[in-house]
Amino acid sequence: MRYADTILEIISSSQSHMTAEQIFFALKQQCPSVVLATVYNNLNTLYAQEKIRKISVAGYPDRYDKNTRHDHLVCRRCGALLDIHLSDLTRELERQTGFAIEGYDLKIRCLCPQCRAKEQAADQVCKSQGL
Ligand SMILES: [Zn+2]
Ligand SMILES: [Zn+2]
Repeated sequence: MRYADTILEIISSSQSHMTAEQIFFALKQQCPSVVLATVYNNLNTLYAQEKIRKISVAGYPDRYDKNTRHDHLVCRRCGALLDIHLSDLTRELERQTGFAIEGYDLKIRCLCPQCRAKEQAADQVCKSQGL
């Protein structure tokens, strides 16, 4: 069995956006002798073959995702990723620029509901202390 196929399967069937370590632990359940370096090598190959997507957010480890057309909301406080489905902007971008658009990766900044609640709670504390 090839590790790459199993890794691809793990990523395709996951609803979350997994880090290399999370993929490693999932793979280890099926292949106990696998090492983390193997996972990184296979992820790099799959990414180079455009079979998976990699989402980089400053301050967080890279996360991997199935290569389907969708974009992401990113919480600026906790780094949570949420899939969003917008209409394909390729044509519109080509019309505006006259360039051949090869792909894009939208990351829309947001504050997730949990973090919003935390910030509001922190604000309340500051106000009650007259800060
Ligand atoms: Zn958040
Ligand atoms: Zn996604």
